[in-house]
Amino acid sequence: AIELAGLRKRYGDHEVLKGVSLRVKEGSVCSVIGPSGAGKSTLLRCVNLLEAPDDGNMLVAGQFLEGGHSHSRKELLALRRHVGMVFQSFNLFPHMPVIDNIVLAQQRVLKRSKDEARERALELLDSVGLSDKAEQYPPKLSGGQQQRVAIARALALEPKIMLFDEPTSALDPELAQSVLAVMKSVAQSGMTMMVVTHEMSFARTIGDYLVVMEDGAILEEGVPEEVMSNPRQERTRQFLSAVT
Ligand code: ATP
Ligand code: MG
Repeated sequence: AIELAGLRKRYGDHEVLKGVSLRVKEGSVCSVIGPSGAGKSTLLRCVNLLEAPDDGNMLVAGQFLEGGHSHSRKELLALRRHVGMVFQSFNLFPHMPVIDNIVLAQQRVLKRSKDEARERALELLDSVGLSDKAEQYPPKLSGGQQQRVAIARALALEPKIMLFDEPTSALDPELAQSVLAVMKSVAQSGMTMMVVTHEMSFARTIGDYLVVMEDGAILEEGVPEEVMSNPRQERTRQFLSAVT
């Protein structure tokens, strides 16, 4: 589970998160939407401490973290051990075959043997529909295929939580569908997920909870269907009509 309480983050005199509180239940999918600059990526980056919050606190995969101070390497590693993240850009090692991209992290982080890591990597590639691409180099794959490898790589570390920051926004609609299908199956496996997305149909059908952010704060939140079909805030209505 993820619990955020009064999370604040500022860059210089620009307050980017103005006290965000949020609870993502174990095994549920929370979608985060909102206009550009709302602070969605910053929020996600705080959850795995790519950014250190200035104030507030968080409970992430059982680990309690307080804002307002820097975190030890030990704390960071313990946290990231349980939190996988997938970005808009795929961040694969281009000079390394797909399979090695997935094997390497398992050896490093989980101390798995090469054979064990390969076996797991092949299972995961199969589950994302890419068993025939194991020996291919990432630049030879389509964006959608690369993103599915990135998801497989994150899953290989057996995270308790997966964070996705607009994983399909660099992809054309058809390729995006292949990635969304994989995300759907990850969600159905019971993963706790926080997903920043522009894909309203994903948020509506796969998401259990929807958060609308604007200007560093949560504008509105609730059951996706209810927020989308009957928003309480005029601003939410405006945003939804612009994106759907
Ligand atoms: P988008 O939909 O465009 O991805 P977002 O909701 O993810 O937007 P963030 O990336 O979280 O927004 O950025 C929120 C605000 O914080 C923006 O005004 C951005 O310019 C600012 N910001 C983000 N990162 C930094 C940084 N490292 N230094 C200074 N300002 C930053
Ligand atoms: Mg962003």
